[in-house]
Amino acid sequence: MSKSAPKRRMITSALPYANGPIHLGHIAGAYLPADIHVRHLRSTGEDVLWICGSDEHGAAITLRAKKEGIPPREIVDLYHEEMQKAFTGLDISFDHYSRTSSPKHHQVAQEFFLNLMEKGGFEVKTEEQFFDEKAQQFLADRYIQGTCPSCGHDGAYGDQCEKCGKTLSPTELVNPKSTLSGSTPVLKPTTLWYLPMGRHESWLREYIVEGKLDGQPHHDPKTWKAHVLGQCRSWIEGGLESRAMTRDLDWGVPVPVEGAEGKVLYVWLDAPIGYITATMEWCEAHGQDWKDWWQDPNAELLHFIGKDNIVFHCIIFPILLKEHGGYNLPTNVPANEFMNLEGDKISTSRNWAVWVTEYLEDFPEGSDAMRYVLTAIMPEQKDSEFTWSDFRDKVNNELADVLGNFVNRVLVLTKKYYGGEVPTAPAQEDLTDTDRALLEALAAAPGKIGGLIQRHRYKEAQLEAMNVARLGNKYLTEQEPWKLQKTDPERTATIMHLTCQVVGNCAVLLEPFLPQTAAKLAAAFGLTDGRWADAQPDMVQAGTTLGELPILFAKIDDDTVAAQVAKLGQKGGDTTREIMPAKDEITFDDFTKLDLRVGTVLECEKVPKADKLLKLTVDTGLDTRTVVSGIAEHFKPEDVVGRQVTLLVNLAPRKLRGIESQGMVLMASTDDGGLRFVSPEEGVQPGDVIS
Ligand SMILES: [Zn+2]
Repeated sequence: MSKSAPKRRMITSALPYANGPIHLGHIAGAYLPADIHVRHLRSTGEDVLWICGSDEHGAAITLRAKKEGIPPREIVDLYHEEMQKAFTGLDISFDHYSRTSSPKHHQVAQEFFLNLMEKGGFEVKTEEQFFDEKAQQFLADRYIQGTCPSCGHDGAYGDQCEKCGKTLSPTELVNPKSTLSGSTPVLKPTTLWYLPMGRHESWLREYIVEGKLDGQPHHDPKTWKAHVLGQCRSWIEGGLESRAMTRDLDWGVPVPVEGAEGKVLYVWLDAPIGYITATMEWCEAHGQDWKDWWQDPNAELLHFIGKDNIVFHCIIFPILLKEHGGYNLPTNVPANEFMNLEGDKISTSRNWAVWVTEYLEDFPEGSDAMRYVLTAIMPEQKDSEFTWSDFRDKVNNELADVLGNFVNRVLVLTKKYYGGEVPTAPAQEDLTDTDRALLEALAAAPGKIGGLIQRHRYKEAQLEAMNVARLGNKYLTEQEPWKLQKTDPERTATIMHLTCQVVGNCAVLLEPFLPQTAAKLAAAFGLTDGRWADAQPDMVQAGTTLGELPILFAKIDDDTVAAQVAKLGQKGGDTTREIMPAKDEITFDDFTKLDLRVGTVLECEKVPKADKLLKLTVDTGLDTRTVVSGIAEHFKPEDVVGRQVTLLVNLAPRKLRGIESQGMVLMASTDDGGLRFVSPEEGVQPGDVIS
C-alpha cells in the first residue's frame, strides 16, 4: 500500500467478560465513546473497522459456572447473547462482535503462542503454586483471595487488587484463601510459561513516554490521557516483573505444547488476540486481508477500554505484538475512568447497577436518552456519577425542552405557513447580523465537533452539537416569526429557511451521539445518507417537502425516577452474590466447646466516644452480665432492650474501651453491609442451651 493511500483505522473495544450482563458503567467506559468515535469516522468517509466480542475464558467464568452448578459453556452462551442484546439495544454499532471460545480463536491464539515460544519469548519455570487440596485444583487469579500487599485491601484477587489496581501474583497475597473452599492453600510444583516483561522495559519506556518505536516517531504522547500515561509510567518505573501466561485450568485455550495437558493460556494472553481473530472473521466475510488492518504501517490501532485494563493494553499486549513482530502497536489507548451510581460504586454482587437490558425493557425508546446522559457525564478524565434525577433533568430540560421543542416548532410552523415546503433562501444582502452569526456558527460547528471527537473529548463534542440546536431554539424564540408572518412574509421565510438549515445540521452532527434521533430528523427533512461534509449552512434545499416527525423525547416524571432508584440494590438482575468462602473444617468436639445460650437484653446504652459500640446488660439465665457489641451504627439502644438474642457465653472476657465484655451476641451480616440479630423463636427463656 502506498503512503498516499487512505489510513485504515482499526478500532477495538475491551472484550466484556461473559460472566454477567452489561451495565451502564461498562457502556460509559469502553463502548459509547468508541461508538461516537467510529460513527464520526464513518460519517467522514474514513476506512474504519470496529470489532469486539465476548471474553469467554478465565476464572471469572469458571467460578460463576461452579457457583451456579452448570458448565462454563452454558454461562458463556447465555451472556454472549445477553450482551449482544444490550449492545444492539443501545445502538452500539460494532462492525463485528465475536467470541473467544470459537475454534477459530483457539487456533489463532495457539499459533500466536507458538510463534512467541519459538522466538524465545517465554521463560518456562517449574515452581511452587498454590493448590487447593480439597478442590484438587491449582489456584490462580480469582480462585484466590487475600490481603493486598500494596494497599491492605482485604479482598484482593490472585491477579489484581481491584481497590488500588496493582497486578499481583497469588504468592504476593497476605493470608491467601481459596475462593473455592475457603481453606488455606498449600504449595505444589507446576510448570508455567512466563512473559519476562523486564526485558522489554527500555523500548516500552520510549514507546510510552516519547511516543517512539525503534527510534522512529510513532505517536504524539501528548494526545494520550494524563491518567493513562501516569499509570503506564508508574508501572515501568516500578520495574516490570515476569508474569505467568499459562494457568492450570480446564477451561480456556489449551497450551499447544506436548506435556502441557491441563494447562490453558492466561485469559489476558488470549483475550486481546481475540481482537485479531475477530478481524480475521470479518475480513473473511468481506473479502479483505486482515493484515491490512493489523500489519500495514499505514493502518492505525486504537483500543477503547476502562481504566482497569490499562496495563494489559498499554504494556502486556504491546509486548506480545512486538515480540511476535509485524504488528502495529496502538497509537492511543483512550481509557475512561469509572462511573459511579447514586452515591456508590457500581457493584454487581450487591445489584447496585443499572442493567442495560432491564433499562431498555423499562424505556423501550430510551436508547438515545441514555446515550445522551452517559456522554454528558462521561468519566473521561476522572470518575463521574450517574443519578436518576440527573437523568430526568437532562432528558426533560435539554433533550425534550431544547432539541425536541425546537425541531417540533420548526416543523409545525413550516407546515402551517408553507404547506410543509422549505421556503426560499434569502438573498445575501437581506441577512441581518443575527442571521449571519447563526450561519457562521453552522459553518464552524462540524470542524469544531469533529476535532473534539478526534481528541477523544466526547463530552464537549456532544455539548457543542447540542449547542447548535440550542442556538436554533434561541434564534427562533427571539425572531418570533409567528408575529411577523402576516406583516412581513419575506422576513418570516428567511427565519424559517434558516431554522430548517439548523435542523438539517443537527441531523448530521448529532448522529454520533443520538443515532435514532438523527435518523428521524433526516427522514423528516428529506436528507438521505447524510455525511459529515453535508453539514453546511445551506444543506436543506428550498422546496423540500417535510415529512412527519414523532415526539422525539418523552418527559421523565418523578415517579419513574423513584421507581428506578428503588430497584437498586434489590435482588434480581445479576444473581451471583459474593458469598464469604467457607472456613476450614472443625470437629464435632470443636463445636461442643461453644456454649451458646438464649439471653434477654435488660439494658442497653451507647459506649461514650465509640461510634460503633453498644453496652448491653444481658440476663443469661446463669447470671446478669455485660456484653459490648459493635452494632451501634445499626441499632439504637431502645431497639435492643427486651430482645432475646443468641449469646456465646464462654468466650474469654476482653476489654473494649475500658469495659469488660463477657460474651458475644450473634449477628448475621447482610449483603448490603447491614446486621440482623440471630434471635430464637418464641417460647424460650434465658439460659436455654443452643446446640
Ligand atoms: Zn491494593
